[in-house]
Formats: sequence, C-alpha cells, structure tokens
Amino acid sequence: MAQNHNNDPFWRVKTMKQMSRAEWESLCDGCGKCCCIRMEDEDTADIYVTNVVCKLFDAGTCQCTDYANRSVKVPDCVTLTPENAGALKWMPRTCAYRLISEGKELFDWHHLVSGSRDTIHEAGMSVQNAVISELEIEEGCEHHYITQWPGEPDIDTGLALEPVPDEKSKD
Ligand code: SF4
Ligand code: SF4
Repeated sequence: MAQNHNNDPFWRVKTMKQMSRAEWESLCDGCGKCCCIRMEDEDTADIYVTNVVCKLFDAGTCQCTDYANRSVKVPDCVTLTPENAGALKWMPRTCAYRLISEGKELFDWHHLVSGSRDTIHEAGMSVQNAVISELEIEEGCEHHYITQWPGEPDIDTGLALEPVPDEKSKD
C-alpha cells in the first residue's frame, strides 16, 4: 500500500482528489452492493435495495464482467468520483468511498487493511453468491427481491446489522 514518510496509508493522508488513479480504484472493496438494483418509493423517496444484480455482474467473482465498457453497456451505472462519492444517498454504508468521504476508517476486512481480497467475502460483507441476475427474473418483479445486506441500515431507521466504523466497540 502507498504510504507517506509517517507510514500512514494514502487514504488517511490524501484527499480523494489527490489520490492517483490506482489508489482511487484500489479503494473499492469489491462488495458488489452497488451493483444491486434499487427502487425508490415515489411518495416517500425511501430507497430499497434488492438482491437482484445488474446483467454484467458475476456473482461468483463479485465483479463487473466488463468494467471498462460499463458506462456504454449500462448507461445508468454511476461512475464514482471524488465529487459524488459522498453525495449519493443510496451508496452502501460500508462502501469504502462513502466511508472515506465521511472521514471514517476502513473496516478490518477491507483488503487494503487485511492484505487479502478474500477477507470481505470471508466476513460475509459482500454479495458474493447471494444474488440473482436481472436477466433471470420476471420484469417488474424486483420488489419481490427487496433485502437487507449486512452492514446496511434498515430503511431510514439508522439501524445497522453490523456496526459501522465510528460505532465500533472499543473492546
Ligand atoms: S459499494 Fe463501494 S466498495 Fe462496494 S463494490 Fe461498490 S464502489 Fe466498491
Ligand atoms: S455495469 Fe458493472 S459496475 Fe455497473 S452496475 Fe453493472 S455490474 Fe456493476
């Protein structure tokens, strides 16, 4: 990992705008939660997440199968930037971009902390092998697949299934 002379990792010492492209991309923990289809209640503006994933998502690898061309193939796939990373209400609470934009620390299972890309899956914090492709469900039935992912709060209750970093026990 990139460090400064005080051995602080880059995400603690650089602003998002100061990060290199490689550093920026490395922040992604590969959880796949942002690739799950969301629905917004027109009356309340509440956002609901499902376990239905974008057609380009591979449930086994937990990765986009065509990351380079995702914006062309899936026009509504949002590209994260330093400007929008902290402003997207629907982004997962555990998303590293959201955490850093909010001045929080990465979880222990994040690969930049653990040194392994497997730890997020071992900790049960990704959607690996727990989703169904949008190509496999009946159109218009996404509401049958509303779910709650580990680490994410109930809709508008603020309750998380797992503690977020600034709420972690000091034990
Ligand atoms: S939610 Fe954030 S950390 Fe998880 S896959 Fe999406 S961009 Fe990466
Ligand atoms: S295009 Fe790729 S990155 Fe975008 S939502 Fe689909 S699977 Fe995820």
